[in-house]
Amino acid sequence: MHPFTHLLTGWAVAESADLGPKDRILVTLAAVIPDIDGLGVIAEIATKNSSTPVYWWSEYHHVLCHNVGFGLLLAVGAALLAVRRTITLLLVVLVFHLHIFADLIGSKGQDGYQWPISYLLPFSSLWQLRWVGQWVLNAWPNIMLTVVLLGVTLYLAWKRGYSPVGIVSVRADSAFVATLRRRFGEPRRPTDHTVLQLTIYLVTASACARSAPS
Ligand SMILES: [Zn+2]
Repeated sequence: MHPFTHLLTGWAVAESADLGPKDRILVTLAAVIPDIDGLGVIAEIATKNSSTPVYWWSEYHHVLCHNVGFGLLLAVGAALLAVRRTITLLLVVLVFHLHIFADLIGSKGQDGYQWPISYLLPFSSLWQLRWVGQWVLNAWPNIMLTVVLLGVTLYLAWKRGYSPVGIVSVRADSAFVATLRRRFGEPRRPTDHTVLQLTIYLVTASACARSAPS
């Protein structure tokens, strides 16, 4: 799935618990960081026509950081860095596996290639996970999921006063929230919906919109 969708998933999961800013960021980053093994695409494209091309994207994407060994590293990192250690560690493990699950169901390339996931690496290469029903990266379920998660994120930003923009800049986040509140008014209470409730509302609304006659 697209890294942006993974990031929004991590944010929504982090927001389902009562986490402080640091733990929230740890959970959100854990949801997207496995895709750093795709950065080899830059070197692969840059050396494509050279005498010594490298294939770091083709060989390492969905391999280096999409396995249980990397998941363990993330868990150790969360245990060392988190303020609320237990809940943050559990959510980091959860979002890491949601990332793998999402890639298994909806990351097929336009050429039909399904990136297999060697889940047991670096301990074993026995499992090569793939799902025959996998849809392509830009298929409608991925787009709908991203739109729903974006809706949840914007709502929570308006309601709670912070958003993933704060991972990059707290100042930019304040300006972003202020813009939302100027547009939609001030929230009456700090929180009155859980992420789960909100997701159900948005999924229902999307389904109704899709089934409505045009
Ligand atoms: Zn991935």
